[in-house]
Amino acid sequence: MLSRMRPPSLFPLFAEVSTLKGVGPKVLPLVQKLAGPLVRDLLFLSPSGLIVRRPMTATTATEGMVGVFDVIVDRLIVPAKPGAPIKVRASDAEGFVHLIWFGGSAQNISRLLPKGERRLVSGKVERFNNEVQIVHPDVFTPAQADDIAGVEPVYPATQGLTSRIIRKLVQGAMEHAPELPEWQDPAWLAKQRWPGWRAALAALHAPAAEPDLQPDAPVRQRLAYDELFAHQLALARRRRARQITPAPVIHPGDASERVLAALPFTLTRAQTQAIAEIRRDLASGEQMGRLLQGDVGSGKTAVAALALADAAASGFQSALMAPTEILARQHWQRLAPMLDAAGVPTILLTGRDTPAERRARLAALASGEARVAMGTHALFQDAVRFDRLALAVIDEQHRFGVNERQRLQAKGDPRTGGVHLLTMSATPIPRTLELTQYGELEVSRLTEKPPGRTPVTTAVVPQARIGEVAKRLKAALDSGAQAYWICPLVAESEASDLAAAEARAADLRRILGVEVGLAHGQMPGADREAVMADFADGRTPLLVATTVVEVGVDVPNASIMVIEHADRFGLAQLHQLRGRVGRGTAASACLLLYGGGDDGLGETARIRLETLRRTEDGFEIAEEDFRLRGGGDPLGLKQSGFPAYRFADPIRHRELMLAAADDARLVLGRDPDLTSPRGEAVRVLEALFDWRNDRPGID
Ligand code: ADP
Ligand code: MG
Repeated sequence: MLSRMRPPSLFPLFAEVSTLKGVGPKVLPLVQKLAGPLVRDLLFLSPSGLIVRRPMTATTATEGMVGVFDVIVDRLIVPAKPGAPIKVRASDAEGFVHLIWFGGSAQNISRLLPKGERRLVSGKVERFNNEVQIVHPDVFTPAQADDIAGVEPVYPATQGLTSRIIRKLVQGAMEHAPELPEWQDPAWLAKQRWPGWRAALAALHAPAAEPDLQPDAPVRQRLAYDELFAHQLALARRRRARQITPAPVIHPGDASERVLAALPFTLTRAQTQAIAEIRRDLASGEQMGRLLQGDVGSGKTAVAALALADAAASGFQSALMAPTEILARQHWQRLAPMLDAAGVPTILLTGRDTPAERRARLAALASGEARVAMGTHALFQDAVRFDRLALAVIDEQHRFGVNERQRLQAKGDPRTGGVHLLTMSATPIPRTLELTQYGELEVSRLTEKPPGRTPVTTAVVPQARIGEVAKRLKAALDSGAQAYWICPLVAESEASDLAAAEARAADLRRILGVEVGLAHGQMPGADREAVMADFADGRTPLLVATTVVEVGVDVPNASIMVIEHADRFGLAQLHQLRGRVGRGTAASACLLLYGGGDDGLGETARIRLETLRRTEDGFEIAEEDFRLRGGGDPLGLKQSGFPAYRFADPIRHRELMLAAADDARLVLGRDPDLTSPRGEAVRVLEALFDWRNDRPGID
C-alpha cells in the first residue's frame, strides 16, 4: 500500500530516539517506555502542565510560587546522621536561601554548588522560620542563564526521567521536525484559524499559559484533528479495499415483492431507507460491509428478511446467523413461512438437530435447493457447504468474533466473488465510537420505532417501597400480563448474588403465588435457554434474572420490567433492559428500584435515571451515557473500543472527529490514489501517524 512508503521528509522524525543528543543508555529505556521508540513519539508527548519561573529575592519570595534566585554559595551542611537531608546555604543581597536535598550525594551537590561561586537556583518557594527554602532546586551557572525559561512545560515524568530532562530532549527533537506540506483543507484551516503543523507542534511544547493546555486550545485542536483525520483515512482505505472486492450482483425480484407483501405491516421510513441503502450495496458488484444499528424492537428482522429474499431472487443463497438457539429459532419461526410462501426454501441449523435432520439439511444446502440457512454457530462449521452463498447476515454481531464471521463469509464461491456482509446490532453507540470501532463498515441506522407502540412508563422508586411494587405486580399478572424482575450482580461474590436472586425468586413465588422462572449467568446455556423459552411461550408469567435477559428475545406479552439496584447499572444497560418491554400493544411499565435501606441516590445515578425517564431514544441515551462515563474514566473509553489517541479526546473532540470522517471520505472519493498536491500531503500525514504498523488496537 502506498502509505507504507515513508516520504523522505519524515525520515528525521522516524529516527530512533537513541540518535538524539542526551539520550544515553541510562535514559534510553525510560524514554522508550514513556514516549515510544521514535523521535516522532517524543515530539508527540504533550505537556501536562506548566510552571512559571519568576525572578525573586530572599525578601520578595512568595511562598508556593516558583522563583529564580541569583545567589552566592555560602556553605554545604552534611548531616551527621545518614539519611538526614543535605543542605546548602546560599545568599543574595537581601538574605539567605536554603537549599535542601533528601538523598543524593554531598559530593555531587558540592560540585554543583561550589562554595563562593555564583549560581542561579530555582524551585518552589517554601518559608521556614521566615527564611526561604527550596527542596531539590534546579541549579544553573550564570552561563546557563538562557536555559531558564520564564514559562516551562511540565511533562509526565517518571523515576529517573525528570520533566526537565524530557523538556531538553523535546527541544532537541524539535530541531529535527521538518516543515511538511499542508494536508488540511485550506478553507477549513482558515476557518479554524489553526497554525500549520510544525508551528502547532512547536507551540504544543511552549505553552504560555494554562488555557494552552486545554483540549480546546487551537494548537491542541489542530493536532487532534490531524490524528483523527489520519485514523479516519486509514479506516476509509480499508473500506475501499473491501469495496473493490468483487461480489455477486443482487437485485430485488419477485420473491422480494412477495415477502414485502406478506409482512403484516408497512415499513417505517427508517426501514425503507435502510433497505434502500443495502440494495444499493448489493447491486454494486462490490462487496457490501454494512452495520444495521437499531434499538431493540426497531424492526431489524424485516430489513434482513428483504435482503435474504433479494439474494434468492437473484439466484443466490444467504445465511442468517444468531448467537443463541432461541434467537435463531425465533427468526426461523417468523421468517420461514413468509419466505417459503415466496418460493424461497429455508433450513434451520442449530446444535440440537438430530443427525438425520442435520444430514438432510446440509444436503439441501449443498445442492442449492435450500436458499436461506438460518441458525447458530452451527452455520459456520466445516461440514456446512453452500452451493452459491452470496450474503451473510449476522444478528447481534457483537456476540460473534471476527473469526467466526469470517468463517461464514469464507463459505462463498470464489468464482462468484466475496460474500456480502450485513451485521446487525441492537446496542446503539455514540457516533464517534461507531466511527472508530466500525469505521470500515458503512452504517445504516433505524432511528424510529414502528408505530403503535405505547411508550414505556418509567418510574424511579426507592427500594423501601418494594412491597407496594409486588402488590401492583400481582394485580398485573392476575390480569394476564408477564413481567421481568432483574436482580443485578451487586455483591462481592457471584455466589452470594446468585443466592440473592434465588431468594428473590422464592419470595416472589410465595408472595405472588405464581410460577417464577429463574435465569442466571452460571446456568448451563441449554438450561437457561429452556427457562427463557418457557417465559417466551407464556408458561411462566414471571422471570427473575440476573443481567442475562437475552438481547433480542421478543416476548410481546411481557409488559412489566422491575430492576432492582437500578443505580448500579450503566445508562445504556438500563435502556437495553427496558427495551425488553413495550413490544406489544399493552401499556408497559419499567420500575427502577434504587438504594437499599435509606441510601440516597448519587448524582450520576440520579442523572442516569432522569435521562431514562425523559427519553426512549437509544441513540440519545448512548451519547449521554458516553458523556457521563467519559468524564473521569479514560480506562472506560479504551474498553469501549477507542484506540489510544495521543492528541484526540473522543468526547471533547467529538465534532472534530465527525468532521475528520467526512473529510477522509471526501478526499479519497475525489482522489482515490492521492496523486493531487493535497493528496500527496495527505499521504505524508498518513505516514506520520502510521496507524497500520503502530497500533494494532484498531481492528
Ligand atoms: P429488532 O430485531 O430490531 O429488535 P424486530 O425485528 O424483532 O426488532 O421487530 C420487533 C417487532 O416489531 C416485531 O414484532 C415486528 O413484527 C414488529 N415490526 C417490525 N417492523 C414493523 C413496522 N414497520 N410496523 C409495525 N411493526 C413492526
Ligand atoms: Mg432482533
